[in-house]
Amino acid sequence: MTITAIIVAAGRGTRAGAGQPKQYRPLAGRAVLNHSIRAVLADPRVTQALVVIHPDDLAAYHDAVADLSDDRIMAPVFGGETRSASVLNGLDAATGEFVLIHDGARPLLDAARLGDLIDAVLAHGAAFLALPVTDAIWDVVDGVAQSALPRDTIWRAQTPQGFNRNTITAAYKTATGPAADDVAIAMAAGLDVTPVHGSERNIKITQAQDFDLAEKLMGRTMDIRVGNGFDVHKFGPGSHVVLCGVHIPHDMGLLGHSDADVAMHAVTDAIFGALAKGDIGQWFPPSDPQWKGAASDIFLRKAMSVAAQDGFRVNHIDCTLICEMPKIGPHATAMRTALAEITGIDMERISVKATTSEKLGFTGRGEGIAASATATLVAI
Ligand code: MG
Repeated sequence: MTITAIIVAAGRGTRAGAGQPKQYRPLAGRAVLNHSIRAVLADPRVTQALVVIHPDDLAAYHDAVADLSDDRIMAPVFGGETRSASVLNGLDAATGEFVLIHDGARPLLDAARLGDLIDAVLAHGAAFLALPVTDAIWDVVDGVAQSALPRDTIWRAQTPQGFNRNTITAAYKTATGPAADDVAIAMAAGLDVTPVHGSERNIKITQAQDFDLAEKLMGRTMDIRVGNGFDVHKFGPGSHVVLCGVHIPHDMGLLGHSDADVAMHAVTDAIFGALAKGDIGQWFPPSDPQWKGAASDIFLRKAMSVAAQDGFRVNHIDCTLICEMPKIGPHATAMRTALAEITGIDMERISVKATTSEKLGFTGRGEGIAASATATLVAI
């Protein structure tokens, strides 16, 4: 017995706001679609997972599933103009004896309900998760309630919806016109479909506020990351140094491939460190001539954009410069202002301070400047 889970994720999802389709937006640190795929793989009886995506989303799909190594995940297939066309493309690529068709925007399917559904599909040939309606249901016309509908027999459909693959494929091939869901397609072909009690948690993310609800339902603990960065640059001939983007007159300059802004490099590395995304040298190799003499704000801006892409907000930066000269104190406010402008973080959340090393070591001998930084990132 083989079961293919078909995860339908080809929609544009514009109602949830923001630029990218909702199934690729982060939820508790992972793309919504990543959660939905994990959810259908929670039952070992599922032998394949096949995601139907929009052709424009191939890169977003690969990003979304990058941390999933389950060999039951098949190559994605492209969807069509309508949900029905997308499901049919998935059915054509599936090989399981049974299929479970699941919305890519239902990340909170739990393993127990999935197990109940599979039991029912194997027993009856066609079944779907649903919930009996408990609220009163009213027919409303022009903003005025008209009549109460009998709710005793009304269920709200969820997904997955499971079928014998050949049977539902044949039903799709004979279907005419739009259908509410796969149950409607099956019923139009004369199949009996059994509802199985789903869960209130198994919401479909449609609106922007559904992300907040989903996170609450996940009982999510806050994902807070603290990263540190450290950098050293050596003094050489010059008339000023650049620290946190601020030019400070000095009788020496700092040597480096870029503008040698040791403080901004440490801050940038602290952010990359919190994200576990390597370091400044990996993102901007010193061997690449395009960074020669570059103003270091481009490095920090890159780290900020990687943080945003990964679903994190930089909440706080603390940078300590270690040198005997130049004196940092008189410039600390300007440095905080510069970092605030580059990062968009409130200046009250940015600290720049300095220490000497009591004339000990290379900083004590005035051979260079060291900088140490900490950044705190919060998942959004
Ligand atoms: Mg450096």
